[in-house]
Amino acid sequence: MPESDIDQLAKHLSKLPGLGPRSARRAVLHLLTEGRAMLQPMVQELQRLDESITTCEICRNIDTSSPCHICTDEKRDPSLLCVVEDIADLWALERNRLFQGRYHVLGGTLSAIDGRGPEQLGITQLVNRAKDEAITEVIIGTNATVEGQTTAHYIADRLHDANVKVTKLAHGIPVGGELDYLDEGTLGAALLSRQSV
Ligand SMILES: [Zn+2]
Repeated sequence: MPESDIDQLAKHLSKLPGLGPRSARRAVLHLLTEGRAMLQPMVQELQRLDESITTCEICRNIDTSSPCHICTDEKRDPSLLCVVEDIADLWALERNRLFQGRYHVLGGTLSAIDGRGPEQLGITQLVNRAKDEAITEVIIGTNATVEGQTTAHYIADRLHDANVKVTKLAHGIPVGGELDYLDEGTLGAALLSRQSV
């Protein structure tokens, strides 16, 4: 039996992260029935984004202009730079309005197997920014994984001569967490990054 256009659309949608075949079919059904009013604006927005989306030449974020709206925002603190693995991490920090500085998006971690070296992560670009811009502190916000931490060490090493303070996000007890429920790695990291009170 040939696939209908509706099946095709559901198939495309099911490839998106977080959507399996079943939820993709439900989304399609919604869009074609009671959510019909959303369809046209959504198509137009997707088309517009498809035509204008670009990578920021400064921080490697994606936006409809380069430099992006964060790099050009004069209200941002020019002395702070946060290094993140992915654009989703930048969005997480932005969503919570936790950080007022600017960013560098690595686009992954160092990985010989996947062919990602310092050049692919834009690390020379990052070091040059740390030297040339008014940056006084670089916060390394890579993930608390082995790869994330190896990459953090490498970046800290490369920033050694840039005359900036290099910090990284603390690892440890989550807010509201109970010691008895923490895994050994988290508890160990919390002990190592203990602070004076
Ligand atoms: Zn930017």
